[in-house]
This record gives sequence, C-alpha cells and structure tokens, in this order.
Amino acid sequence: MDLRGTTETVIRGIAASRGIAYGQVFLYLQNELEIPRYTVEPAKRMAEIARFEQALVTTRQQIAKIRQQVSKNLSEDEALIFDAHQMVLEDQALISETIREFETTGLNIETCFNTIAQRYIAAFAEIDDEYLRERAADIKDVTRRLLHTLLGQTAMQLTELVEKRIIVAQDVSPSEAAGIDRSAALGIVTDAGSRTSHAVIVARSMKIPSVVGTRDLTQRVKDGDWLIVDGYEGVVVVNPTQATLFRYGKIQKEKSSFESRLMTANELPSETIDGVHVTLRANIEKADEVALVKQYRGDGVGLYRTEYLYLSSTRMPTEEQQYANYRAIVEGLAPAPVTIRTLDIGGDKPLPGNPQLIGPEANPFLGFRAIRLCLEHPELFKEQLRAILRASAHGKVEVMYPMIGCAEELAAANQLLEQAKAEVRARGQAFDEKIRIGTMIEIPSAAIAADILAPHCQFFSIGTNDLIQYLLAIDRGNNRIAHLYDPAHPAVLRVLKQVIDAAHHARIKVSVCGEMAGDPIFAPLLIGLGVDELSMTPPLIPAVKFVIRAMKFSDAEKLASDALAQTDSKKTAALVEAFYQRHVAVE
Ligand code: PEP
Ligand code: MG
Repeated sequence: MDLRGTTETVIRGIAASRGIAYGQVFLYLQNELEIPRYTVEPAKRMAEIARFEQALVTTRQQIAKIRQQVSKNLSEDEALIFDAHQMVLEDQALISETIREFETTGLNIETCFNTIAQRYIAAFAEIDDEYLRERAADIKDVTRRLLHTLLGQTAMQLTELVEKRIIVAQDVSPSEAAGIDRSAALGIVTDAGSRTSHAVIVARSMKIPSVVGTRDLTQRVKDGDWLIVDGYEGVVVVNPTQATLFRYGKIQKEKSSFESRLMTANELPSETIDGVHVTLRANIEKADEVALVKQYRGDGVGLYRTEYLYLSSTRMPTEEQQYANYRAIVEGLAPAPVTIRTLDIGGDKPLPGNPQLIGPEANPFLGFRAIRLCLEHPELFKEQLRAILRASAHGKVEVMYPMIGCAEELAAANQLLEQAKAEVRARGQAFDEKIRIGTMIEIPSAAIAADILAPHCQFFSIGTNDLIQYLLAIDRGNNRIAHLYDPAHPAVLRVLKQVIDAAHHARIKVSVCGEMAGDPIFAPLLIGLGVDELSMTPPLIPAVKFVIRAMKFSDAEKLASDALAQTDSKKTAALVEAFYQRHVAVE
C-alpha cells in the first residue's frame, strides 16, 4: 500500500455505485473530434450521400458487435442500451433531416450530420427529467461513433486499461463503459453524469464503486495519483493520508458486511417484529426492469410510469405496441400484481410523438398534463386503456390515474374505462372485468378531499414527489429552492394522515409510490401513519425491508404520533433519523 499522501484533497460528488476502492488513477481523456467543414462539388454529391449511408451501415455493425460482447460479458439487460443506439441510427427523421441539410447547404456530410445531431442532443438535454436527459447521452455516443467512422479515426479506448486502476474521466459513454474490463477497473469516477447515467448503470451491474459529478477532477489529478473512491458517500479522496486510509479500511469492512446482511435479509418476508406485513413493490419505467424487480424480490410493480413508452419514440405507440409491452411485464411477474399508471405526460415531460398537443405553457407543472390531457383526448386515452385491459387477461393488472384533482375527473376517467371495456368486449378480446382502479393522490385538492374520491376507486397511491411540490409550492426540479423541499414539514404529515384515514375509512388500501417510500429513514414513519404498501425503485427494497424487519409496528405508530405532534420539521427529521439509527446500527 502506498502511503505517500501527506496532504489530501477531498472532493464531493454523487454516490453512484456502492463500495470503496483504493488505487491509482487511469486518466481517460477523450480526444476532441475535429470536424472539417467544406463544400462538396455538385458532381460528388451522390457519392457523399453514399458515403453517409455506408458509414451508417459500418456503425450499425460496430454497435451490433459491442452488443454481443456486452450481452456475453455483462447481461442481456445491459445490452439493451445498444438497441436504443441502433434505433438512433435507424431514426428516419435524423437521417432525412441530415440529407435535407446536405441538399440545402452543400456542406460535407459530417458537418450536416453533426448540426442535426447537436440539435437533437440540445433538445433532449433541456428536458427537466433525469432519465430523458440521459437519452441525450445515447445520441451523443452514437454521433461520436458515426463521426469517427466518417472521419476514419479511432478513439482512445477504455480497453487500453489493463492493470488494476481507477478510471477518472470527463464522462463515460455506454459503448465505452461496455469496453471496460471488470477485473482491471477498481473504481469509476466521472466529472459529469448523474445516478442514471450509463457509466453508472454498468458500474453498478459490475459492482464497481463509483462517484459521478465531480466537476473538475480530471483537471486536478494525473495518471498514477492515488485515490479513494467512496461510492457510499459520494466522496473522492486524492492522495489520502495514512489516517484516512486506516479509517476507510475500517469503513469498508463494516459496510460490506452490512450490504451482505441487507441482501441476506431481503430473502425473508417484509414483516415487522410484531408480525405486521408491509407489501414492498417496485417502480419501473421500462419493461426490461422486470428482471430487476425479481432480483430485489419486489412484490410486483406498484407504479409503471408508462409515459416512457411515449417519450422514447418520435411516434405515438399504437394499442398493439402498448399491449405487447404491458403483457410482457404482466406475464414476467405473474401472479404478482402490476399497477399500470396511465399517461402522465406534460409538466416536465413533452410528447415527442405529438408535440403540438401540449404546446408552450407559462406554468407547465400547473398546466395541461396527465389526466387533464387524457380526458380532453379520449381517443388517445382509450387506446391506452384498451391495451391495459387486454394485458389484464395475462395476470393481475391494476389501472391507476395520475394527477386526479377532483371527483369529476375520476368519474370521467372511469366512464372512459367503461367505454374501453365495451370496445374490447365487442371485439371478443379477453380482459379482467373486475380490474382494480387506483387514484394517485398527488394534488393537494385530491388529498384534502380524499374521502370524496375513495368510494370511486379501489386504492390510493400517494405520489409524494408531486404532493410535496404542490403542497409547499416548491418546484421539485429547482436547485435553488431544493433545501425547502421538506418531507418532514408538519403540513405534509398532516395531509398524509388525512389521506390514509380517508382510505381506511372507505376500506380501501393506500400505498406511497413517491421517493419518500424508498427512503429507509422515512419508511417507518409512513408505516406508522398506516400506509399499507410502499413502492420504490427496485434496488432500494433491501434497505427498506431491513428496517421493517428490525422494528415493531407499535414503535412505528408511536414514532408517527410523536412526529404528528411536532411543530418543527427539523425536530421531526431528527426523530425519524434517531428511530432509524436505533433500529439499524451500522457501526
Ligand atoms: C410522484 O409524484 O410522487 C410520483 C410517484 O409520480 P412521478 O414522480 O412520476 O411524478
Ligand atoms: Mg407525480
């Protein structure tokens, strides 16, 4: 072990993949692509288009090869990234716009393609949604690859990494990530990136500790510097001192034994010490996450955000496409239930297949989104409802409406569901006549009038992400006021209690599917308030189950009543934190 560090530098980023690594830096700097710009003579224009088409073919072949490698070395799930890349290369809009740009400007095809691709990248990068912003990374990756092919250049490869090192890079694209040799990469740190970037997905699947969002680390280290990567806390220590190394050695031992305790306990039932069962379900955005739901023992899906089907394509998905997608999930998880949420488009999520439908709005979060849009476009809504109904013939399906604000909206949605049922029935197609209907409670008016909504559905699911943003008037995506977004606010607790009581009074179940449900510190509070089910992103299930198994329901009830009596949200936060620490002693 090298102990040269006398003064160390601690850099904070985002914890992306758990674990602690210690080793020397492999600085991965991608060379900037120089794109020449010149006019193509009219006589050579046909040949220029042929060159573009040939480059598309070659790049598709390269991607197919990488896909094969990844599927073999990692998993079929990871390999699906490359299907998305193939789709970019096959996107007719991108190809025809490039050719149109070439026909109007007469400039070389690299310049034309880059102009159009950058336009797409900028459009995706502006979307206020982490998942979709990451799709800009897909287009960037494919663009870079195609430009390399057109220019006949090869990029610096992560495959050059042969000895055990920590990769430090500006960013790591999916195809670069796929080239990483897992036995040589001790850790991955990127200046850019977020929790859902591809580098992170790959790091997690390979169980390589990773920190992202370190901003300028690539400029502060050089090849061979010693680093600690703390993937639990999102910290990187450059040239650590002996004392730090000693501390980390100890933490690493404790954390990895805690992780394995979590995973072992995850095989056991989700039950408190005094025998109360709490159903833990999964939030998913894509059909291929079914494997993840199973891996983390989710009891089915509590929230399938179907809008990603509409967002990932420039065409609106047809009833058949939706049916196939929903059916795959339902069959994959049967007999466990799958709650399919109807289209929650608008707000921060545009509709690429029909951008005119929403149009510009001064306050998109208070605007034409989700159920409001669906009720005004019954054909679009019923197309989805029919697909959901048909999927219900293959397992246990529940349908759930987002952004319900009043009983009239719920009644109107139910009426369209009845029409959709009649249409499917008339075609002679099978479906579950008694499909359960859920209402998302995420608008304060719905929460306060929950008793009026309850008789018209079979369950509630509280969307705390939106509910808190609307209740506290805090834009959930605005960094400047992020510190005011407070799940422990007395108003939040009182409203949650009111919704839960209204549900139970009407004898319907209530779940929480916002981020609060997957936070092991807040989960006991929600359970103590009376929530029947929690739904969260699959990898969070073990930590939540662990705290459930370590506590008594009666203690969680006491925690909830103490929290409700508090008037200061900081004290409430301290209460729930202390409860967690008492029950889950890490050290
Ligand atoms: C929520 O608002 O809490 C929720 C689960 O829905 P989404 O995050 O998709 O808006
Ligand atoms: Mg919501």
